[in-house]
Amino acid sequence: MNECGKLIVVSGPSGAGKSTVISRVMEADKSVVFSVSATTRKPRSGEREGVDYFFTEFGKFEAMIENDELLEYAQYVENYYGTPKAPVLENLEKGLSVLFDIEVQGALQLKQQYPEAILIFVIPSDFSQIEKRLRTRGTDSEEKIRQRIKTAKTEYSMALNYDYIVINDDPDLAAFEIKSIITAEKCRANNRKKYLDEVL
Ligand code: ADP
Ligand code: 5GP
Repeated sequence: MNECGKLIVVSGPSGAGKSTVISRVMEADKSVVFSVSATTRKPRSGEREGVDYFFTEFGKFEAMIENDELLEYAQYVENYYGTPKAPVLENLEKGLSVLFDIEVQGALQLKQQYPEAILIFVIPSDFSQIEKRLRTRGTDSEEKIRQRIKTAKTEYSMALNYDYIVINDDPDLAAFEIKSIITAEKCRANNRKKYLDEVL
């Protein structure tokens, strides 16, 4: 029996470990599809077109906004990031759950459109880890690291708008917690009504 797909939104400051944790969740749960965002940011080494992002020129991104092709979008550290609408709608129609790695403004836009969306905020237990991890990742200039840390503070101020906060000190444990949230949400009585129909 096909059950309703969920929208699972993961946010958190840059360097919190969202991509690392999400890739572990995706490996373990094949009923969840990752929403590949469009961005005007340049690819990092190892990032693949259409897998990590759709890397898009500014003009093309603005045309996507104009043509209403995005479910949500935001500007983050001098670049645009947005969620292409069509694949999300197709996957939800198939009953699949969709997982989004998006920043806080976009998350709140999605929650307005889909109040049932599950919002998860990922952070390390210690704020200083963010800078440390950004430096270890080695993908951003000093200036970009500074901007990302500044933005992180604003993002923390939005965390209590989320349904869950997952602490990522150990990526396996954080992935386990996200999988547990998804499992619990799928088991909500409201999501299981069709199993009652035959009897009631
Ligand atoms: P985000 O997607 O939130 O920006 P990443 O997943 O790219 O973060 O992680 C940033 C850096 O921190 C990467 O080098 C990653 O390997 C590392 N990292 C992720 N989770 C942890 C963790 N729990 N402890 C230590 N380092 C981590
Ligand atoms: P990064 O450049 O580190 O890949 O991503 C920067 C920020 O943009 C992260 O907080 C990430 O969650 C967010 N982001 C990625 N894709 C989207 C998107 O489609 N929409 C929004 N609003 N934010 C996104």
